[in-house]
Amino acid sequence: MEISKIQEQLQGKLVVSCQAAPGDSLENTEVIRRIAQAAIRGGAAGLRVNSAEHIAAIRQDTDVPIIGIQKRNWNKMLRITPDFTSAAALASAGATIIALSCTSCIWSFGEPWRQLIARIHDDLKLPVMADVATLEEAFAAVNAGADFVGPTLNGYTEQTRGNRSFSWSLLADLVRDVRVPIIAEGHISTPDEARRAIAEGAFCVVVGSAITRPGVITANFVRALQLSDRSASAIGVDIGGSSIKAGMVARDGAISLSVQLPTDANQGRNAIAAGFAAVVERVLAQAKDKKIEPCGLGIASAGAMNVQDGSVFAATDNLPGWTDFNLREFAEQRFHLPTYVVNDAHAAALAELHFGLGRGLSDFVAITIGTGIGAGIVSRGRLLQGQHGFAGTIGHHTIRMDGRPCNCGRKGCLEAYVSTASLVTEYKKQCGRDLDPAIADTALARKISQLALAGDAVAQNAYAFVAGFLAEGIANIFNILDPQVIFLSGGLVEGHQAFAADIQRRVANLLHFGSKRQPHVQLALAGHYAGVQGAGALVFDEHSS
Ligand SMILES: [Zn+2]
Repeated sequence: MEISKIQEQLQGKLVVSCQAAPGDSLENTEVIRRIAQAAIRGGAAGLRVNSAEHIAAIRQDTDVPIIGIQKRNWNKMLRITPDFTSAAALASAGATIIALSCTSCIWSFGEPWRQLIARIHDDLKLPVMADVATLEEAFAAVNAGADFVGPTLNGYTEQTRGNRSFSWSLLADLVRDVRVPIIAEGHISTPDEARRAIAEGAFCVVVGSAITRPGVITANFVRALQLSDRSASAIGVDIGGSSIKAGMVARDGAISLSVQLPTDANQGRNAIAAGFAAVVERVLAQAKDKKIEPCGLGIASAGAMNVQDGSVFAATDNLPGWTDFNLREFAEQRFHLPTYVVNDAHAAALAELHFGLGRGLSDFVAITIGTGIGAGIVSRGRLLQGQHGFAGTIGHHTIRMDGRPCNCGRKGCLEAYVSTASLVTEYKKQCGRDLDPAIADTALARKISQLALAGDAVAQNAYAFVAGFLAEGIANIFNILDPQVIFLSGGLVEGHQAFAADIQRRVANLLHFGSKRQPHVQLALAGHYAGVQGAGALVFDEHSS
């Protein structure tokens, strides 16, 4: 078939991938043939089929374009159409396009793919679809002569491992920068996603499991029902610099079987990961005794999280070595549960949204104040995470030009004035007498909190100092986001209703039209286990969306 004819037939259309997983009950030539017949009856403009045998069987019924592939596994490595013999067999069975892996992986078997593309063109006279995982690989494949490119292998190579959903940003890059038609393939599972792929410039779209694998489709339905079950529970974990907490989170936010261990942070990545595994194992062991089966695992961690691949994008020194650790992959391999990761302050906002005072609200910001400041922004009922998981980093917005140095490298950040360390420094200054140097700052901060609540003037003055800066920062947030409420939580504010009321008054005075806007600032409901609760809520959330 002429390439222009193929393009005409597939442009803007649906290609159905008719494959069965090895060992699946549908892995049978006659069954695959009938699935293909059904897909064509349903309107598929083309097919993607594994093996010459299946293509030959399907070719008896139809002349639609078939993207032929031959999957080969070698030492657990999957390579699509690794040699010319396979390609030739696909061609003689009736394939219209030959697809092959064109990734940067080093293969210990088969032929170099550049050479393969040339031989398929020269000897078989067929066009080639390059299955790639990245933009760079697409460039390389097109330079080697590939006629079509698909991001099929995104999520399946060492470099992209862990990506479980279709990468819209990769599609955008491919459509913009690659000069051959882009075939959208990989994790497209709904009609809306297929339509979006075409709308965003894909030449055609390939859908597989969501159409042709009843086992996968059934499992999705079963999981959805399990989650609507009011008795469903998820494991929530909260990894912080000083402790790792975990527990079983019920649909109503109730926590049971909770476990807490100190974080072995000084020992680095492996020790933190081992501590995480240990708390989850303890919760799982208790759950087994009580015959509770968790439907997933939610992990809140300090640091910015890469929601796309489940790794830690950036963590500060209180979790040394944590940056770039693929937390989701580690957890899934170990516990075989669907796993979701989230920043700890973001998790606290989710806890407030699902189980706390944020229920029924659409727009709020939940701020946690302790050794630093974390925040989660909920907008239109959804948590804002941002491109790299940094959304809500309000602790590092400048409150005073050329002010105190901050650990982020800038000066005058909100966090440099509003934190337990800042409270302690101010208290010491106002005290005017030497305090017992044996008392650690964390203990002293607790002491100051108690003194302020008991009416001690010096402690209250230290709080007032912090309040001035916090009010400036919160007024900025009201101006940028205009939320319904700002919630405060964390060691510094716990139990301090009057402090929250003071902040609210100060903010109203700072804001333009403040008395009319009536900004609401109040203490959060979610407490010590907010991160665990929010991580659990994430499982229910992600599963059902
Ligand atoms: Zn800063």
